[in-house]
Amino acid sequence: MTSVFDDLVGQEHIVEILKSAVTASRTGVESQEMTHAWVFTGPPGSGRSSAAVAFAQALICPNQGCGGCNECQSATTGGHPDVEIIRTEGLSIKVEEIRELLTRVAWAPSMGGWRVVVMEDADRLTESAANALLKAIEEPGTRTVWLLCAPTLHDVLPTIRSRCRHLQLRTPSSDAVKDVLINRDKISPALADFAARVSQGHIGRARYLATNESARSRRELIMQLPLQLGSLAAALQAAQTLVDIATEAANKTSEDRDEKEIERLQDAYGKGATGRGMATGAAKAVKELEKEQKSRATRMVRDSIDGALLDLATFYRDVMMVQCGSSESIINADMREQIEIYADKLPSASTINKMDATMEARKELALNAAPLLTCEALMCKLARK
Ligand SMILES: [Zn+2]
Repeated sequence: MTSVFDDLVGQEHIVEILKSAVTASRTGVESQEMTHAWVFTGPPGSGRSSAAVAFAQALICPNQGCGGCNECQSATTGGHPDVEIIRTEGLSIKVEEIRELLTRVAWAPSMGGWRVVVMEDADRLTESAANALLKAIEEPGTRTVWLLCAPTLHDVLPTIRSRCRHLQLRTPSSDAVKDVLINRDKISPALADFAARVSQGHIGRARYLATNESARSRRELIMQLPLQLGSLAAALQAAQTLVDIATEAANKTSEDRDEKEIERLQDAYGKGATGRGMATGAAKAVKELEKEQKSRATRMVRDSIDGALLDLATFYRDVMMVQCGSSESIINADMREQIEIYADKLPSASTINKMDATMEARKELALNAAPLLTCEALMCKLARK
């Protein structure tokens, strides 16, 4: 039988815990297995929010998470009355948003059983928002299950995390990711191997690369950048290229999604609604949505640049591997020759500096630094011997 937990690659230890929690939850009372507040942590791409969403599905599904029934499906699309998935597009979750959420979930679950709230970016809660949430989590006898996701436990306020059960996801191995791509997504073994390797256990990125040819050619362009840093002008040009490629990729994804969302919203209001109130209501909702989409687009560009920098980092990682004499474990096997020539010319201390500089640039971007400026500074550092 298929299960919503099948998608959690390399997380067998977590799946076991969640399954026994689901079984225990059927009694309707809290127990050692089933508690009402959980924190899912794990590196990006390990699938922490997928794990939380699968758990939410299994809690409300009559078949403990079959993935196929109405309950399971509506839970992921926001159509289930007892499941809320909070995805943040902005840089923080504010107290007003939490207060609004709390009024929405204050009612008893409509179908009996549990009401489930998945918060994908609990690390973005402002302090006052976290405090408002804490009060809700502490409330006794509640029928709401809180599933909070964050990169690490340190990203969650201590008062909140002390009341939650903690599940730590692992980065799945490249082999595990490769197997899923081959068996579930029907990707050819060679392509699956490449995508799994360069994505370093990030299942979402691996699938995206494996199924998207333009994503692969964009990555190829990014990976050539370290070889094109012969002068200051070239370094600045490389920064521009990186930002352009990443922006184009992000915009492509957001445009498709934006259009569909607007259409869906208009459908919800009834296209060509005649009543005056309806028309203004729809216009206002569309405006709100467009505002949200804009802030999401900004974030997606940043995420996309971050992905490009992660790719770049694999180049210097490989150079280091070659310099250490373990060239069989390089990630970018398709660039082996270029990497070996590069490794031969560069002192290994410089390689480490370049990796550090790349990671430093990612940190700065995460702190809202200007993307092009950050990339220019980085490329200048990467251009040095
Ligand atoms: Zn189901």
